[in-house]
Order: sequence, then C-alpha cells, then structure tokens
Amino acid sequence: MRCGPGTAPYEKSLRQLKSGDGAAAADGDAGCRYLVSISYNRGLGNRVIAIVSAFLYAVLTERALLVAPYNGDVAALFCEPFPGTTWLLPDGRRFPLRRLRDLAGKSRESLGTLLKSNAGGNGTSSWSGRPPPYVYLNLDGSADYHDKLFYCDEQQRLLRGVPWLLMKTDSYLVPGLFLVPSLRGELERMFPEKDAVFHHLSRYLLHPANAVWHAITAYHRDHLAGAGQLVGIQIRVYHEETPPVSQVVLDQVLSCARRENLLPDAGTTTNTSSSHQAVLVTSLSSWYYEKIRDELGGGVHQPSHEGLQRMGDTAHDMRALSEMYLLSTCDALLTTGFSTFGYVAQGLAGERPWLMPRRPVWDKEPATEVPEPPCARAASPEPCFHSPSYYDCAARRNYEDIGKAVPYIRRCEDVSWGIQLVNGSSHW
Ligand code: GDP
Repeated sequence: MRCGPGTAPYEKSLRQLKSGDGAAAADGDAGCRYLVSISYNRGLGNRVIAIVSAFLYAVLTERALLVAPYNGDVAALFCEPFPGTTWLLPDGRRFPLRRLRDLAGKSRESLGTLLKSNAGGNGTSSWSGRPPPYVYLNLDGSADYHDKLFYCDEQQRLLRGVPWLLMKTDSYLVPGLFLVPSLRGELERMFPEKDAVFHHLSRYLLHPANAVWHAITAYHRDHLAGAGQLVGIQIRVYHEETPPVSQVVLDQVLSCARRENLLPDAGTTTNTSSSHQAVLVTSLSSWYYEKIRDELGGGVHQPSHEGLQRMGDTAHDMRALSEMYLLSTCDALLTTGFSTFGYVAQGLAGERPWLMPRRPVWDKEPATEVPEPPCARAASPEPCFHSPSYYDCAARRNYEDIGKAVPYIRRCEDVSWGIQLVNGSSHW
C-alpha cells in the first residue's frame, strides 16, 4: 500500500527508472523496491506457479509485487489480493520499460549477462559503480548457469541494491529459494509444513474473480455437491489425440484407477444416496470423458472440452481456472505427470495425487504401451520445479545429489531432473 502504483514513492521510483538512476532509488527515503513478474505466452498453470513464486520472493526480499499482465487476463481471472492498492503493473506509456516480454537470457540487462560480462564488479560480489536501476531475471526453462547464479547468496546480496527486478519464469521456483542459504531460515520458519507451501501461498494470494467463482460454485452445486466421494481425473492432451494414442492413455487412466480402487463400480455412480461416488474429468478432449462415462454407466462430469490449448484467450483461461478449482474440491486426484495444470489443482487441494507418468510434450513419439506401474502416489502436493540450479554455491561445485541437499527436498517422481518440497520433518 505504501509503495503501490499511484503513491508518491512509486512515482518517484518511476522517475528514477526513467532517468536510469539506480542507486538513488535504492537509497531513497521511502525505500520502495519492486519485483515485476512478467507474464508471457505460457499456459495458465505455468503462469500461476510463476506468480506464486514471484510473490514469495517479493515477501522474502521486501519488495512490492507487480504483475505485468498478459493480454489483460490477470485482472479478469483474479481479484486484487492486497487491499487499498493494485498488483497490476500499470500498462501503457507511463511505464518506462517497454516490451518486457522481449527480454530474454541474452538481454544486456539480464543478471546472467551482467555476471558474464563482469559488469557486476570484480568477481561478482559488488557492482562496479552504482547498482543498475533494474535487472532482468531470466529464470524460465532457458536459464543457463549464469542466470541461475540468482540462487546464490552472493548474487542475492547484489540484487538487494537494485530498485526494480523484472522476473520472467514459467516455473515453480520455490524449492530453489529454499536452497539459498540466506533465505532458508526465514522460509523454514514461515512454513513448518514443507509440503504445504504452495497450498498456503495460493490460497492466500489467489482469489478467482467473481465471474470465475460463480462458474465454479454453480458447476459444483449442479453436478458435484451431492456426491459422497468425488474423484478428479486430469488428462493432459497435447495434440489432437485419437486412437490408438488416446486408447493407451485411457487404458493408463483406467488401469491406475482400478488398481488404486479410485473408481466406483459400474452402475453405482448413478445411485442417489449420499454415499455415491462421482467423477470429474478435465481434459481438452471429450473422448476420454465419453469412454469413462460408458465404462461407469453415468456419474461422470466434464465441464468443458476446449479442443486445443489457446493463448491469450481470456474466456478459455477462465474455464481452465474454474477446472483447476473444481479439481481441488475432489477427495482423490489422478493427474497427468509433467503438467502444471495438474500441479495447481493438487496444490490448491493440498492433496497428494496419483500421478500418471507421461512423456514430455517435446517427445514426438507417443507412448504405445501403458507404463508399469500406470501411476504412483506423489510424495507431496507440491508442484515440481522443472529447472533448478544444480550448483551448490557455498561448495562452488555442483551438488552430488540435489535431491539430498536438505531433508525436505527430493527429486520429483514425474520429472527426474526436477525437485520438489516434501514433508521432511520426520528426518529431523
Ligand atoms: P501444462 O502445459 O500441462 O503444464 O499446463 P498449463 O496450464 O500451463 O497449460 C495448458 C493450457 O491448456 C491450460 O492453461 C488451458 O488453457 C489448456 N488446458 C489443458 N488442459 C485443460 C483442461 O483439462 N481443461 C481446460 N479447460 N483447459 C485445459
């Protein structure tokens, strides 16, 4: 509220950003510093985990969070989380830095480039003059070794003096923040339950806008509320999938559900007693829903089938958000590995899903057989961080096994190179 858009410190900081005067802003009397989370052409799940990560980093480093909206959809999807101010970066001519979305790893303002060119001073421990007015943090899947020095104490100290940080990511950075020694103590105190970090952050920060909330509650009331037991199945489709590809995925879903006793017996879903089960299917395709409904004889619901993923389409994103929340009301979740859509649903729910392993999207060859086992219970409801830094800054070499660096971080089940927060308190 003190630093938000429209306040005197914000106006002053903007003026300093325009004039390129970094140090003055950093030492400024109001001491307002900013973290801008840059949304770009990624799916909603990716964008949600990115915003949640940026929020936590902003809290830890005492910065005001501003979200640079992607086609204005943040405002259509979520309520303003902070009373008396806005989290939306004011658009248009007044913000001095244009084309935030064009920033990339090679941009000269990026932390990685600054460190590479040694403009960060002799070695990396100080700026060779005044801190720059802004630094771009390239933390998406394209981040390289120098970009990922962000996760080191030394660079965190450097960044402290920079008034504006511009963060671009599509990942859940939080496990990486736990690996920064200077942030760890505070994080451990904030989150005694390490497997509930995303749950608390998302429930605190994200509030679906009225139209989305209305869609969620109306669908829940009309189709799901009567069920004694609700099973959510999220099937991530990457291409227009038809048999035999889709048949393999369907077989995987059914084999997982039967093996783990997740699905009701055929016929029992239509029962009207309060103990009956219902199934919520979410997918871009309706084929799976139809087959599961045929299999069970009823009691199966799918709110939408959008066909293909679309970028920059607010109504499409609103349906995606509704479905993430509807999935989060389920008693049991069966999700597709690798999918941030599923991560958001499981994290909102605070539930460990049964994860179905799936080949990554860039793998052109679809699976021809159901993997064995078809699914496994995830260790934690926490999203997997797909692009961690393997560099142990204190030791100045790579971790021998990043999954053993601290007791509450391990490698993800669905993405072998990713890391995930789990409840490691029993190891203490
Ligand atoms: P990821 O690509 O699986 O990690 O998940 P993202 O959410 O980042 O991107 C997938 C996008 O495709 C979503 O944001 C939706 O726009 C769309 N999509 C994928 N699966 C579904 C689904 O089951 N329901 C709806 N409504 N949209 C989906």
